[in-house]
Amino acid sequence: MRIGIIGAGISGLTLGAALHRSGIDVQVYEEHAQIRSGGAGITLAPNGLAVLDALGIGADFRALQLQQAPLQGGIRNPQGDWLTRISPEITHASLALDRTTLHSLLLVGLPSSRVHTSAAAVGVDASTGAVTFADGREECFDVVVGADGIRSAVRATCFDDPGMTYAGYNTWRAITEGVPLDAGFETWGTRARFGAVPLHDGRTYWFAVTSAPEAQPGTQALHQLHATFAQWHDPIPKLLRATPEHSVQYLPIHELAKPLASYHSDKVVLVGDAAHAMTPNLGQGACQGLEDAAVLARLLRAGSTDFSAYDTHRRRRSQQVARQSRLIGRALHTGGDRVTAARNWILKHVPDAVINRQVQAVTAWAVPEM
Ligand SMILES: Cc1cc2nc3c(=O)[nH]c(=O)nc-3n(C[C@H](O)[C@H](O)[C@H](O)COP(=O)(O)OP(=O)(O)OC[C@H]3O[C@@H](n4cnc5c(N)ncnc54)[C@H](O)[C@@H]3O)c2cc1C
Repeated sequence: MRIGIIGAGISGLTLGAALHRSGIDVQVYEEHAQIRSGGAGITLAPNGLAVLDALGIGADFRALQLQQAPLQGGIRNPQGDWLTRISPEITHASLALDRTTLHSLLLVGLPSSRVHTSAAAVGVDASTGAVTFADGREECFDVVVGADGIRSAVRATCFDDPGMTYAGYNTWRAITEGVPLDAGFETWGTRARFGAVPLHDGRTYWFAVTSAPEAQPGTQALHQLHATFAQWHDPIPKLLRATPEHSVQYLPIHELAKPLASYHSDKVVLVGDAAHAMTPNLGQGACQGLEDAAVLARLLRAGSTDFSAYDTHRRRRSQQVARQSRLIGRALHTGGDRVTAARNWILKHVPDAVINRQVQAVTAWAVPEM
């Protein structure tokens, strides 16, 4: 069986490494001249790490996890009071790392002869498995996997593509040196929040999210973040001051305008953001792409190209996570100070165990028997 994966992001590289490990002929195509990560840091929740273990490529990630100080975590208000604590069972089982490291570790599992850069797919024929590239070349596969991200050309070509919609908020992300943390946190204010997590190497990954009409990339300068978060608890202003402007990445948040009716069409299957681009409020986008890769790898390793079970299982799970993430975004990014005060009061008085059960319901996952 010959498999073509379009897109060398987290989902495509993971699936590629898993299939290659099983001796399957897999080729990965990336439109850029280099494999790029972008987006500063990322947290892999227990479900994401479980996938890497199940695929036999988790050892390097577990080694990093051993270097990481036990992560404490929870939600705070802008004054710094803890509103809820996430159980160490969940935080210790997660891994925060920079995206460059994540990409490098995934690439270890794939020989360079299997990864083709400067190869933008511009057309896919779902019935024949033929892929046309921007340079005019055509390649034929038994299965084509669309792992080409939020603005997927594979989705646009072979599926009823609903397009993207703006979520109503923007993010800024960076990794900062010299401001070590002893706990991760996410702090909820009024239509603004700030999260930070220590990395295994002592640096700090942080993100800020604020509600806004859709702006053009680059128009939201760092000094505006300083103003928004100046009165928030330590070390938020310190982290912002310690971060050079050029290392901050700005991104307006979009998600799929409507859930897809199917993740497969003839010889084509979608994984990751191409299938279910979601808001980042649960930190689950990449983890869901990893779950997709695990389920698809299990089928392909068994020699099956009947993707109906993949479709049913993965749409149910990933679209439910996307829905929850969207609802959290709405709760955090609409309403004024009174809504914030009420929301934070409720959060403070709901037992931590209740919140932790919710988090665990999302992050505990095992590759299903298909
Ligand atoms: C602010 C923010 C924070 C986040 N934090 C987390 C987190 O903590 N944990 C988590 O699990 N998720 C998180 N996510 C989500 C996560 O970043 C994405 O879900 C994940 O990167 C998607 O991976 P992917 O491989 O599916 O797509 P991508 O990472 O978008 O990769 C797609 C690849 O395909 C290539 N490509 C595109 N078009 C073509 C083409 N036509 N031909 C060939 N190649 C092509 C692209 O260049 C790219 O390399 C976050 C997202 C945001 C925005």
